[in-house]
Amino acid sequence: MNITASLYTDDRTIRLLINGELVASRASERRPIVNPATQEVLAYTPFATADEINAAVASAKAAFGTWRNTPIATRMRVMLRLQALLRENLPRIARVLTEEQGKTLADAEGDIIRGLEVVEHACSVGTLQLGEFAENVAGGVDTYSLRQPIGVCAGITPFNFPAMIPLWMFPMAIACGNTFVLKPSEQDPMSTMEIVRLALEAGVPPGVLNVVHGGKEVVDALCTHPDVVALSFVGSTAVGTHVYDLAGRHGKRVQSMMGAKNHAVVMPDANKEHTLNALAGAAFGAAGQRCMAASVAVFVGESSQWLPELAQRAKALKVNAGGEPSTDIGPVISVNAKARIEALIASGVSEGAQLLLDGRQVKVPGYESGNFVGPTVFGGVKTTMRIYTEEIFGPVLVCLEVTTLADAIALVNANPYGNGVALFTQSGAVARRFQNEIDVGQVGINVPIPVPVPMFSFTGSRGSKLGDLGPYGKQVVQFYTQTKTVTARWFDDDAVSTGVNTTISLK
Ligand code: NAD
Repeated sequence: MNITASLYTDDRTIRLLINGELVASRASERRPIVNPATQEVLAYTPFATADEINAAVASAKAAFGTWRNTPIATRMRVMLRLQALLRENLPRIARVLTEEQGKTLADAEGDIIRGLEVVEHACSVGTLQLGEFAENVAGGVDTYSLRQPIGVCAGITPFNFPAMIPLWMFPMAIACGNTFVLKPSEQDPMSTMEIVRLALEAGVPPGVLNVVHGGKEVVDALCTHPDVVALSFVGSTAVGTHVYDLAGRHGKRVQSMMGAKNHAVVMPDANKEHTLNALAGAAFGAAGQRCMAASVAVFVGESSQWLPELAQRAKALKVNAGGEPSTDIGPVISVNAKARIEALIASGVSEGAQLLLDGRQVKVPGYESGNFVGPTVFGGVKTTMRIYTEEIFGPVLVCLEVTTLADAIALVNANPYGNGVALFTQSGAVARRFQNEIDVGQVGINVPIPVPVPMFSFTGSRGSKLGDLGPYGKQVVQFYTQTKTVTARWFDDDAVSTGVNTTISLK
């Protein structure tokens, strides 16, 4: 295995990883990876052929036989080396990530660090994967459970976190003794591949981790491949529902983390300064392209008076290329994404919402062709408007007003999505009632983006998630392992037989 081989072919097509080799795809179709701040073509993503997908799965299947029996300490040491390499290479990979994805350098580092935390957690897989033991469940009988790896797992990732989300998936899967085939977003696979190469350098053996690039055809091939046993998907609701259905019908274990419309509920007793800053950061950071972005603000009672001030804070945020110093908001991922966001803003205006801040005409000197949308704030929004019902996935905050906490809870619970929600208050009693009654997977109390750290699991509920078990944390150990329960009795040579037992009871 040559881990210093270039990630790219001579014509800048990103390579696949099959059986430990970075290989040039034979694909006839490829698409450009474009810097969203400049439209410069950075490289090309090939759309892997059926043979290449089969070769990746076959290499994962072959490697599983050895890797599943590799000592836990060996697997943990690979993760220890990977976390050290990620830390060492963080600034370099962050620059690649900013170039291809657009987010600010500081946020790109955050993207890697949130993934690195999962690798750190994977270093304790020895404890996480422990089974259970009960002595003397019947006379001379013991029962114990094993958490065994399940085989070839696959992961499909979205464009918005090209470091964190692949790192949600393959480190825990392979630390548990599985092998993996990753399909990164075709829009920005470069930083993902930088991380994958570090995994090879850390000692991941050939075949244990494989990468195929592409779009729908590659995803569908993984969902239906007879040798793939589990599939982890993160992306939009439309695709996630399709993947869950297709892979489920083909007998796979599936987890599908999908779209969102995250509400931030503001009580009149909230700390105003903290709340407005938190809202502006959570709505517009990463140009609103986070599945946990606070995209809806619900002002309860008099807190709605803060709306003009919120729009002022949003206006003060600096829109620029992610690599420029002191940028708050970088470009959105593509020309199409920008057009879609602007069309949704136009729909808000035509449906009668009040446009308090319009980001459509933003100009960024030196980056005139970039996909920039400035922070946009709507007041007077109704739940029937498209800007409320659809995930915008851009720097647009829609604001609604209600009279009571009960109204706010009912509004949030009536929304089909259930990824994240935040409450701003100084009352413990209000917070306690909210966390109890709200039907959303991840709740922040005075914390605008409540993404759990890896000793917990990423959750989500209702229209934001399909499958019981979430990525990382203890849940993902369950997802990537099969529980086997052993009931055992041992006889000495001189043990006296009790005769034939025709009942179900253990005697
Ligand atoms: P997407 O659904 O377009 O793409 C996700 C993956 O699916 C990509 O790898 C893509 O190649 C593949 N894909 C695209 N179209 C497909 C099709 N028709 N059939 C099969 N596969 C297909 O998502 P995106 O635009 O890359 O990412 C943004 C979305 O992801 C948003 O909806 C966001 O909320 C969601 N997201 C959710 C979470 C979460 O944990 N819930 C996290 C991050 C992003």
